[in-house]
Amino acid sequence: MSLLKFKTIGISLNKNNCSLRYDGFVSDLEEHTRKVLLEFGATQEEIKNAYNKGPLAMEPDLSLHEGRFICTSDDDETVFNYVIFFKNKNNRLTNTFSKAHEETHVLHHMGELHLLEKKLRASRAIINLSDFYDYKKCNSQDHELVANIGGFYGLQRNNFNMSYVFSHEYSPSRIKNRPDLIPAVEAYKRVLKFGK
Ligand SMILES: [Zn+2]
Repeated sequence: MSLLKFKTIGISLNKNNCSLRYDGFVSDLEEHTRKVLLEFGATQEEIKNAYNKGPLAMEPDLSLHEGRFICTSDDDETVFNYVIFFKNKNNRLTNTFSKAHEETHVLHHMGELHLLEKKLRASRAIINLSDFYDYKKCNSQDHELVANIGGFYGLQRNNFNMSYVFSHEYSPSRIKNRPDLIPAVEAYKRVLKFGK
């Protein structure tokens, strides 16, 4: 039994067939991806195909390009190794969002999204995620919606002022060209009552 700790979203769980490793900040996401895949025994051919679904799944994270998670598994898919890493944006808010976003992708991939929902509920951000529990039934927009909600939860949990978050860093004018962010921003703003 191994205890997995999702540090930014504050979730710990026991999973006897999974491991979770943080590689922290890396200078090049592509290069680090290759390194991790080789380390976990992928062949050059598998690396070439790594963007396809399969035992060697990878989250390219087309939305943000600020972080990534990799999941490798054995051939019969009984053991899963997750690795998370990020680009340093030299901004605590952006980095926190990015970490929480990738952690949420992994939690979702593991089939444990209900744990985030529970955390959200406890912090007044009541968002029903039950339609998204099954990672494989979700499309990439769903994956990003869920991970972005986790990103905002990570900011809230780490004491960022959410009123500031939505009026400055993720204000309507700043996210107008980010269709991947808009649904999560709207969902989160809808449920949070800012203290006025
Ligand atoms: Zn993502």
